[in-house]
Amino acid sequence: MQKIDSYNFSNKKAIIRVDFNVPLDENFNITDPTRINSAIPTIKKVLNDNGSVILMSHLGRPKASEEKFSLKHIIPYLSEVLGVEILFANDCIGEEAENLAKNLQAKQVLLLENLRFHPEEKKGDKDFAKQLSNLADVWINDAFGTAHRRHASTAVIAEYFSENKMFGYLMEKELSNIDKLLHKAERPFTAIMGGAKVSSKIEIIESLMKKVDNLIIGGGMTFTFVKAMGGNIGASLVEDDKLEIAREILTKAEKNNVKIHISTDAVIADNFANDANTKTTVVHEIPNGWMGLDIGSETEANFAKIINESKTILWNGPVGVFEMDSFAKGTESVAKAIVDSTENGAFSLVGGGDSVAAANKFNIVDKLSYVSTGGGALLEYIEGKELPGVAAVRA
Ligand code: AMP
Repeated sequence: MQKIDSYNFSNKKAIIRVDFNVPLDENFNITDPTRINSAIPTIKKVLNDNGSVILMSHLGRPKASEEKFSLKHIIPYLSEVLGVEILFANDCIGEEAENLAKNLQAKQVLLLENLRFHPEEKKGDKDFAKQLSNLADVWINDAFGTAHRRHASTAVIAEYFSENKMFGYLMEKELSNIDKLLHKAERPFTAIMGGAKVSSKIEIIESLMKKVDNLIIGGGMTFTFVKAMGGNIGASLVEDDKLEIAREILTKAEKNNVKIHISTDAVIADNFANDANTKTTVVHEIPNGWMGLDIGSETEANFAKIINESKTILWNGPVGVFEMDSFAKGTESVAKAIVDSTENGAFSLVGGGDSVAAANKFNIVDKLSYVSTGGGALLEYIEGKELPGVAAVRA
């Protein structure tokens, strides 16, 4: 398998699948450029070798060609961070893209318009992938966020680059950090699973059950577990069709010797709003009409103790509605405990959109061992599934 670091891109055209799916405000300003920044080392490597770069990405979920999902909005920022002019093709395939690619000189960068303006991208259409491949000599996959999708640009295109294909630096870093967590975890290994729903986390919880010593459960899914155990949860978020699965998870954990830690107290509110009336109660005695929106201080202390005693930590999902300041304290305390533990030598990996947003909100991104750019891709890789975007490079 080719490695980006030892590959010489001199006089080569590299087409790089990046994840430039950044959030934009109503004036098309980038509100969080993390994903673009993460791809810069790979782009610079090709340029420094005297190669030329063709960038392809998706942005948002367009139904057809839509101005608000155009990648041209990111040109000013990209040009600024790379310090070069960015050429732009208004369509990712076709004559204009072909001519621009053909005439591309060493150290030049060409950005292609949103791949998802063509439905063929998500369908993994072979002919579409071939047209993209014709633009370049080498394919680099550096889009971890979409590696769990078998799309034309993330996987199918590999067929047209038998030897000249590789991971970019970001993909290499993602895979080595997650592999470390999966295969070289020092114990105790603690996973903190939060977020809204159990349903989106069942598979990952089941697979973690074979790996971790402690499973901390927080966030909205807490209440499905509490109800499954016979507690009163008032108006808290619940998935009534998942009560049986919650019970099964609890039984399985006992069998596997995994300690499950669920909140003992909760900050409850009479309304899903930052200015709602609030109080703290035991988690299984929430009055009617009230909902649990954060962990209470007893739970904060319990969770912090477990996290501080851990040598490996995986954090996915906030333990409360951290977007509202009134219910952010629990998530902040979990974040702080992870930082403390990391400072004491633990390996901490944080991933999944909302935990990364929380890590950003509490300014701790630099104090964690690794922050993954993947949401679904991260979870599927941990679940042990083969990611098409990874398999395509390794094949
Ligand atoms: P997920 O995408 O499943 O990780 O869910 C993240 C979302 O879960 C965040 O937007 C949180 O506000 C939300 N969340 C966390 N705790 C709760 C809770 N107790 N009740 C309702 N939503 C919650």
